[in-house]
Amino acid sequence: MSDPVSLLRFTSVAPLRAAVAAWRRADERVVLVPTMGALHAGHLALMARARSLGRRVVASIFVNPTQFGPNEDFSRYPRDTETDLALLAEAGVDAAYLPEVSGMYPEHFSTRIEVGGLTEGLCGAYRPGHFSGVATVVTKLLNQVQPDCALFGEKDYQQLLVIRRAVRDLDLPVEIQGVPTLREADGLALSSRNRYLAPEERVRAPRLHAVLSEIAAGLAAGGSAGPLVEGGRAALAAAGFEPVQYLEVRDAETLAPVEHATRPARVLAAAYLGRTRLIDNVAVG
Ligand code: AMP
Repeated sequence: MSDPVSLLRFTSVAPLRAAVAAWRRADERVVLVPTMGALHAGHLALMARARSLGRRVVASIFVNPTQFGPNEDFSRYPRDTETDLALLAEAGVDAAYLPEVSGMYPEHFSTRIEVGGLTEGLCGAYRPGHFSGVATVVTKLLNQVQPDCALFGEKDYQQLLVIRRAVRDLDLPVEIQGVPTLREADGLALSSRNRYLAPEERVRAPRLHAVLSEIAAGLAAGGSAGPLVEGGRAALAAAGFEPVQYLEVRDAETLAPVEHATRPARVLAAAYLGRTRLIDNVAVG
């Protein structure tokens, strides 16, 4: 375990960039892990991967207002910076970047990154403007920190593809790596939003992963998406998920709809348990 005192904290760009530039001049590879805080073991898995990929790790904590819709949970999103900083120090992270909203979006801020195609379905259909908010803030974070590599969880699979595409399209000089989803022992994907779940909802929540896994197994065995998804929707409804916003089989790279898993595919879902919106996805095969 590293000395907690060694965690640097930055709230503005210039000193952070100076630190990163010094590391890079010393040939130390710098890895960025962007987060919205309320850190859990899934985030810490990203930090551990980051440490294995680079000499220096920067974690950002920023609850980005522009990726939340007007009726979403921005104001009640869990915030616990002191606990987060202690966890980052314990995880051996070198620097925490905690930008202010006013610094990220100064007066007259008027630029947005729109990634077409990939953002149209799945979460994009239910969260208008969400991926534009994500792509814009991640582009800014990459420009502000200037890491060699940045890590994103497969938990937010559509987000990972959107960021890869933006980085490629805009020639951003950074490598993007995806990290597999960390799950509880019962299969529930770790998420900052899991703390919204009432105890009896928490008991039913792992059904989401179970249903996705059943569909993936059916596809891998040669089944077709239509009937598998229909069965899955019924199973989610029976477990109390309402509404199921989407439950779909998509190409793992293009997110085009898939009927038979002849190429790498992904089963993805978003569904509510009570007031809590859960998302998850699994690979086919
Ligand atoms: P968030 O704070 O929810 O924006 O998440 C920050 C990063 O952690 C994103 O790249 C997420 O995809 C990733 N992440 C969140 N939950 C998990 C998990 N259970 N396993 C792996 N990565 C995760």
